Amino acid sequence: MNPSSADPHDRVQSRRTFVRNVTLGAALLGVGATGGLAAELDETFKGGERKLGVALMGLGLYSRGELGPALLKTERCRFAGVVTGSHAKGVAWSQQYGFPEKNIWNYSTIDEIAGNADVDIVYVVTPNGLHAEHVIKVAQAGKHVICEKPMANSVAECDAMMAACSKADVKLSIGYRLHFDPHHIELDRLAREKDFGTLTHLSGEDSWTFSKRAWRIEKSLSGGGPMMDVGIYVIQAACRAAMAQPISVTARELPKTNPELFNEVEETMEWTMEFPGGVTCVASSSYARNFDRFRAEGSKGWINIEPAYGYRGLEVNTSRGRLDFPQVAQQALQMDDFASCVLTDRPSPIPGSMGRDHMAIIEAIYRSAAGGGNRTLV
Ligand code: NAD
Repeated sequence: MNPSSADPHDRVQSRRTFVRNVTLGAALLGVGATGGLAAELDETFKGGERKLGVALMGLGLYSRGELGPALLKTERCRFAGVVTGSHAKGVAWSQQYGFPEKNIWNYSTIDEIAGNADVDIVYVVTPNGLHAEHVIKVAQAGKHVICEKPMANSVAECDAMMAACSKADVKLSIGYRLHFDPHHIELDRLAREKDFGTLTHLSGEDSWTFSKRAWRIEKSLSGGGPMMDVGIYVIQAACRAAMAQPISVTARELPKTNPELFNEVEETMEWTMEFPGGVTCVASSSYARNFDRFRAEGSKGWINIEPAYGYRGLEVNTSRGRLDFPQVAQQALQMDDFASCVLTDRPSPIPGSMGRDHMAIIEAIYRSAAGGGNRTLV
């Protein structure tokens, strides 16, 4: 990971020159987690170029660096508006992306999106501790919603978010972009088809050096430290490789090297997840070091993804040699897939319930760490 980068998952591009950033579009989706989607979409779009309007809520680093540019690469979406605390910023974005100034809202006027026909989907990209409030408001405004990871600060918040979306009859998906990355889709395939036998020994780490006072280390806004921010990627990968939710976890928080800065959240967490059938994953996440890897071993071979969680530049090696996949525009594929879910009334492959499952694991990890590393049932 590039310690100078302000964004943990943007680090790879700066140190690699061979990166190809190719949008595969429906071709990839057709072979990925979404099954025969390409054919389904062809049917949906026959005779028309219907695109869904997406409004971004929260114009911070991720929206600026990734989601705004990705919207321009989508095939099923158009950039329809923003929700921001700064009207001037909203005006600059409307000029850059070509949506009308009437489609700039602030955090107090979210309910007014209800009457706006340009917006079909609102993408919530605010600090974790605000996701529940914002998703619920969007649902009440009758718009479909994508919520960034982690879904919320607690399982109870996740439940309230899912209930609000269900009541409003809108779809909810979580911003797990790696579900559209071919390297991780290959991990799914290997787990499912058992080329290397059942993947039983899993390990991974997602860590980056973060050392400034910001919402990411304020517990009410972040819900926790690196565990919430990037450790969640190891949880996702492990659940995909194990094709299950863990049955128990054991965790311990490491002593802080900078206790003054990390006075509200952990600086480093190490944990082990036990899955059904004896599958285990040894994992860690830290704001005090740089690692980005996931490995899965079976009786007939292994797969190693490193870097494993970035926007670009992922690499897969296996016991049979290196596998080359094109680099894709993960976020464009993710947003296009959600648009197609809305258009075809198909369930999202990344539903709120998946975000909730991962939140339950994180809660169990924090419980175990607080209890001195006790084994905790998920
Ligand atoms: P950021 O700090 O760069 O941006 C946060 C945005 O929220 C800012 O525009 C800020 O003005 C706004 N905001 C609204 N109310 C706020 C408040 N009370 N305090 C602070 N900011 C407030 O953060 P980011 O890196 O863009 O992360 C935003 C969300 O996106 C987080 O949930 C994060 O986990 C997620 N994220 C996901 C990925 C991914 O790869 N899927 C990558 C980065 C961030």
